[in-house]
Amino acid sequence: MHRRLAHTGLIRYHGVVNRLREIFQRINIEGTIEFDYPLAPLTTFEVGGPAAVYAEPSNVSDMQLLLQTALSEGIPYFVLGGGANILVSDKGVPALVIATSGFDSVEREGELVSFGTGLSMSRATEVAAEYGLGGIEFLYSMPGTVGGAVWMNARCYGGSISDSLVSVDYFDETGQAQVYTIQSRDFAYKRSPFQHRACVMLQAQFRLLPTDPKILHRRMQEYHADREAKGHFRAPSAGSVFKNNHDYGAPSGKLIDSLGLRGLRVGGAQISPEHANIIINTGTATAEDIRTLIESVRDSVQKRLGLELEREVLYVGDWNGKHEVV
Ligand SMILES: Cc1cc2nc3c(=O)[nH]c(=O)nc-3n(C[C@H](O)[C@H](O)[C@H](O)COP(=O)(O)OP(=O)(O)OC[C@H]3O[C@@H](n4cnc5c(N)ncnc54)[C@H](O)[C@@H]3O)c2cc1C
Repeated sequence: MHRRLAHTGLIRYHGVVNRLREIFQRINIEGTIEFDYPLAPLTTFEVGGPAAVYAEPSNVSDMQLLLQTALSEGIPYFVLGGGANILVSDKGVPALVIATSGFDSVEREGELVSFGTGLSMSRATEVAAEYGLGGIEFLYSMPGTVGGAVWMNARCYGGSISDSLVSVDYFDETGQAQVYTIQSRDFAYKRSPFQHRACVMLQAQFRLLPTDPKILHRRMQEYHADREAKGHFRAPSAGSVFKNNHDYGAPSGKLIDSLGLRGLRVGGAQISPEHANIIINTGTATAEDIRTLIESVRDSVQKRLGLELEREVLYVGDWNGKHEVV
């Protein structure tokens, strides 16, 4: 039964690849378009299947053409940043995956700095530090891109990216170019107005603070050293699996730890021996192993503590016919 289901999934996936190939082979962009393209190396969990279509647009007109094609043909799409907060299904993503890596521009007007959303968050903080501008340095060494950080309202060391965000240029779900100007009520702990929408952010503008570059570089090295000491880079992961809930009296990692789950394994996936809210790929994990472990942790916390943990890591692709995120 299991094998039959997997086989049916494979036929469905290849049917989709063929249809999308026909459509996307017809369009010309300056960037690249690939078919049946492996995504695992593009995610920090390093697992998961291929994208039916994978595009790396080089500029705004490429992006617009890709979006217009997807919208007019009714093709679902997923925007991929650094892949640091997602779990891609072993069956892959039977859709268009649009990478933002070509959007790595930097523009500066005094204390206002705009970054292309595909620029890595670490690089953005380095560039700001070179200008002698602070306010985002706490995000140095956090994996992922500027776009992914805005999407999740990334947070660490007491700061959130929305603290210095001014505006975002984006394409909305109808393919129209829009400018979003920040309203602080739109952002909260790990929430942004871009969640639950099929927008593509292109550029994000920040208001930064003149700060001695030496101080910024010292702080950045301290944040990096702290992450290294906590074992963040010792094994593939996507950082925290669950959000914290301040009403629960303790961070999610502490709650999971209180149940003695640290070190628990499913196949090649393991609750990090160093941090109970991080699941690592020990080298042989499948996406299914990781998802099973995530669900089992969530169930244990629900049954034994009566608390509902909210997942932070996003499931992407085809999970037994159920499509999540795309
Ligand atoms: C070791 C480690 C440590 C981490 N520590 C932290 C931490 O301290 N704090 C924290 O908040 N997170 C942390 N994370 C999680 C991750 O780094 C952040 O969520 C990061 O912001 C994800 O960015 P990304 O570019 O990889 O996004 P992706 O994982 O590629 O995508 C995440 C979501 O953002 C959307 N998205 C990305 N770019 C765009 C765009 N241009 N337009 C529209 N949508 C877009 C995607 O469609 C998806 O829905 C950690 C992860 C790891 C692996």
